[in-house]
Amino acid sequence: MRSSDPQQRLRDAGLRVTRPRLAVLAAVEAHPHADTDTVLGAVRADVGQVSHQAVYDVLRVLADTGLVRRIQPTGSVARYEARVGDNHHHVVCRSCGSIADVDCAVGETPCLTASDDHGFTLDEAEVVYWGTCPACRAPARTDISHPPDTEGHR
Ligand SMILES: [Zn+2]
Ligand SMILES: [Zn+2]
Repeated sequence: MRSSDPQQRLRDAGLRVTRPRLAVLAAVEAHPHADTDTVLGAVRADVGQVSHQAVYDVLRVLADTGLVRRIQPTGSVARYEARVGDNHHHVVCRSCGSIADVDCAVGETPCLTASDDHGFTLDEAEVVYWGTCPACRAPARTDISHPPDTEGHR
């Protein structure tokens, strides 16, 4: 189990504990799937003025050491999350780009057990489910509580 203490997590990853690193880690934790600008805004609210480049550099270091996970659905900017190591997947709204976590289909990281690994040692599988989120789908419905059952759902 990883430590819940951010300072310890940085040390465990062999990183020096710095205020910007702690702030970025906290920002990613507080805003799952945030893009760089969102992280930057949260970090600035926390520690004051810090450059875009500094935050970008910290994000790269944290991603390289596995403390945060970088995801980039097609057509989206890079997003970051602090939920790492469980190989969970994502569902992405085609309309507004919102992202939610989807656990592996069954059991402990079963998606890493490929039907044929071609001799590779697998450490990550990335599945992106695409669709339309409830918020984007809602306006088309006149009565959400009693949708007509013939309404285009396969
Ligand atoms: Zn949406
Ligand atoms: Zn996620």
